[in-house]
Amino acid sequence: MAQYPDLQLYIGGSWRKAASGLPVINPADETVIGTVPVATRADLDDALVAAAEGLKVWSRTAPAKRAEIMLKAAALMRERIEEIAFAITLEHGKPIAQARLEVIRGCEFFEWDAAEGLRTYGRVIPSEPGIKYIVLHRPIGVVAAFSPWNFPMSQPARKIGGALAAGCSIIIKAAEETPAGAQHIVRAFHDAGLPPGVLNLVFGVPAEISEYLIPQDPVRLVAFTGSTAVGKRLTEMAGRHVKPVLMELGGHAPVIVCDDVDPVETAVMSAVRKMRNAGQVCTSPTRFFVQEPLYDRFVRAFAEKARAITVGNGLDAGTDMGPLANHRRIEAMETLVADARAKGARLLAGGERLGNRGYFFAPTVLADVPDEARAMSEEPFGPLALINPVKTLDEALAKANALPFGLAAYAFTHSARNADRLAEGIEAGNFSINTLEASVAETPFGGVKESGFGREGGAEGLSHYTVVKNVSHRLA
Ligand code: NAD
Repeated sequence: MAQYPDLQLYIGGSWRKAASGLPVINPADETVIGTVPVATRADLDDALVAAAEGLKVWSRTAPAKRAEIMLKAAALMRERIEEIAFAITLEHGKPIAQARLEVIRGCEFFEWDAAEGLRTYGRVIPSEPGIKYIVLHRPIGVVAAFSPWNFPMSQPARKIGGALAAGCSIIIKAAEETPAGAQHIVRAFHDAGLPPGVLNLVFGVPAEISEYLIPQDPVRLVAFTGSTAVGKRLTEMAGRHVKPVLMELGGHAPVIVCDDVDPVETAVMSAVRKMRNAGQVCTSPTRFFVQEPLYDRFVRAFAEKARAITVGNGLDAGTDMGPLANHRRIEAMETLVADARAKGARLLAGGERLGNRGYFFAPTVLADVPDEARAMSEEPFGPLALINPVKTLDEALAKANALPFGLAAYAFTHSARNADRLAEGIEAGNFSINTLEASVAETPFGGVKESGFGREGGAEGLSHYTVVKNVSHRLA
């Protein structure tokens, strides 16, 4: 039987206990399942020294050797999938089948990045005889990374994969609420023979750790996934020290449903995807703009499917949607739903907390939601779908682009003309047509506007972890 891991810090290649800790809560029953260690200043100082040493070794390790270690670690995680998925479900709440998919996705990030690290090609610039201009892509240095709680394993995997493939060392502060995913990644890298100091894992009070680490000399890149508000703070802090950032921030994804698709099929697919991870996904499809001829049938089918979703403990067979990850999300859902209803939205499914033990909230569907409702502009980050009718594509585009966010956007249409027009006009880093998958390992993922800066994954992903060095070499 799989067990929840004994949580520790990992600094300079060694596991380390801490004098104090914070409880880790199972969101399905609110029991304490572990204690996450809180790093002290001395631990952080040790991590900085270790990462600086690790960088010296790793940046001079052959890319093929780096890829070999990364692939070995990914293979170990694949072998340990049941153990990792169990821990993720326990600490986060998501159904175990979704936790398994998350582990596979995390491994795919490592595998893609490992291969991509072999292709950080430079170039030779044509020059006059006697001199050579050579452009190199060198590892940027020590990375300070901060990953959130919604995907305990695949979120840290994004950042660790990018950093390690590029030859950087990294200090990652993973989410205190869901620490086991990152802990399992580190364990796999330790077992795969990663040199000490290349990967360091800390936990603690998020603001204290980021404020301490970001200004420190060896840190050369700040990578964060989380809310726009925190992202802005960390970007300001990095800016004061002229350090680049990689920011994956909030979204509020629009879905444009054109009048040439099957409304029932599209609604069912959308409802299932909306409730994945209990809606706690930065790319979660949230604002549905449906062309009027399909509207009533779409809304009916969506609400019917949402009501049929089984909410329960993620470890139970047959659970489609687990609890929300923490009590903050319950409060946010209650506030947004009450506000929208008070402003005239129609509640068609859910709308309330389920039971009083565990953070369960019913899959919720609101239709005819006025623009003034807070949910239309604040990212719900929960199982809440907002459906509104639109007359034209222009109207849909204007509404889709109305927010300061631009992470993921979706459309359903069989018309090449519609698809092309929407792809041109939509303001988002990722636009998916007839699919609600926003990104895979081989595609670049990231936002525009206040959804962030930079891309993870794809051929673009490693560029943030490298710096360009131009070598001008006059031959004697
Ligand atoms: P939050 O903004 O307090 O925290 C989000 C994440 O950032 C957490 O993992 C937290 O540990 C970390 N964090 C917070 N303050 C930090 C700091 N000063 N330095 C470093 N890290 C810090 O909000 P929350 O209540 O945990 O989450 C809710 C909101 O966060 C959501 O509405 C959503 O917008 C956003 N979020 C986004 C993603 C994403 O994938 N983009 C993931 C999780 C949360």
